[in-house]
Amino acid sequence: MSLTAEQAGTDLRAFVDVSPSPFHAVAEMVRRLSDGGFSELTERDRWTLAPGDARYVVRDGGSVIAFRVGSAPLPDAGLRIVGTHTDSPTFKVRPRYDVRRGAYRLVGVEPYGGLLAHTWLDRELTVAGRLAVRGPDGEVDTRLVRLPGGPIRLPSLAIHLDRAVREGLKLDPQTQLVPVWGPDSAADASLLALLAEVAGVPEVEVLGHDLVLADTQPCAATGIDGSWVAAPRLDNLGSCHSATLALLAAAPAAHTQLVVANDHEEVGSGSMEGARGSFLEDVVGRLVAATGGTDPQDLPVTIARSHLVSADMAHAQHPTQGERHEPSHAPVLGGGPVLKLNANQSYATDARSGGWFAARCADVDVPLQHFVTRADLPCGSTIGPLTAMRLGISTVDVGAPLLGMHSCRELGSAVDVPLMVRAMTSCFETG
Ligand SMILES: [Zn+2]
Repeated sequence: MSLTAEQAGTDLRAFVDVSPSPFHAVAEMVRRLSDGGFSELTERDRWTLAPGDARYVVRDGGSVIAFRVGSAPLPDAGLRIVGTHTDSPTFKVRPRYDVRRGAYRLVGVEPYGGLLAHTWLDRELTVAGRLAVRGPDGEVDTRLVRLPGGPIRLPSLAIHLDRAVREGLKLDPQTQLVPVWGPDSAADASLLALLAEVAGVPEVEVLGHDLVLADTQPCAATGIDGSWVAAPRLDNLGSCHSATLALLAAAPAAHTQLVVANDHEEVGSGSMEGARGSFLEDVVGRLVAATGGTDPQDLPVTIARSHLVSADMAHAQHPTQGERHEPSHAPVLGGGPVLKLNANQSYATDARSGGWFAARCADVDVPLQHFVTRADLPCGSTIGPLTAMRLGISTVDVGAPLLGMHSCRELGSAVDVPLMVRAMTSCFETG
């Protein structure tokens, strides 16, 4: 069954609305995978897997790998992998977050990733993420939490108090990007007490937290025909959503189909669950062993027969600043998946991996756009080169076009969602 753009846009907006933090995004992916017949594995257990098994494994809450074991042994057919990331630029709540200034109570935060700070101003924000709580037997459990409503705000300074703002807004992250929560007189309120109440645990049981700020305005259909999607965190929840739909839709094949969604891409991927970490390598190694691979050559042979699609949003050409794009490589919203290339290897795409993805798109009549950055501008990067480097796997960098990347509120097109899902499904099913 293929989705219409309208259905896909509605579903993407629902996905993003329930995913204010990477932990929530993983929970939503897991919920959808469970509904589709995938069941949980944990890294603490020994695995035995058989052809057709559909399983998922979560590492530290913010990263997930889901796979459907192929009918052929892994060294015979390899893997078809789609990789994404679950995190987005935001602010992370500090351990000692209770800040008082003047008549106000503020929430101490630290910027996370390359955010466009001004886009966070004057919006109703909340706090979401996870609490670490005391579990049975001294273990640490975690609870997903989201503060109800939108009680937190980063107010602009009135132009009358800073005429120089016309020359460009500069905000100091330590002293000025500190959101306000309310009047100082509301002395009884404690953020952690409220979140503990949301989680249904006594505050004294809370041992730690990973909490981020999130915009609370629901995602919207916008544009002249309603086909655009205005939403926070489309980079890279857009790709997480497409990858989940594609894995669920893909018919079983000889090769093993796998989605990896890593946390911490926006801060360099250097963590146990990030793309520089061992998560994918560990799971692929265990997949080979758990399906009967005993020869030391089974893993490298499997990798050599595999393909990885690194899916991360791509820059659509800006309507009024289009000159920031390389003129011959200017993707448009609604124009389909974007193949990303960079001569200096900021993207992993080469002739072979790009050609493989182009063939998979052509197989299912999906149009393909191309992006390279201008020669006089630096290039962003993705988990693609990191994963290619770590595993030695043929990798292609692709993404759906997006305006306002890293804004608190980005803009994509619902038209691209079914195109991306179809392209990914084609990668899972063929080739
Ligand atoms: Zn991204």
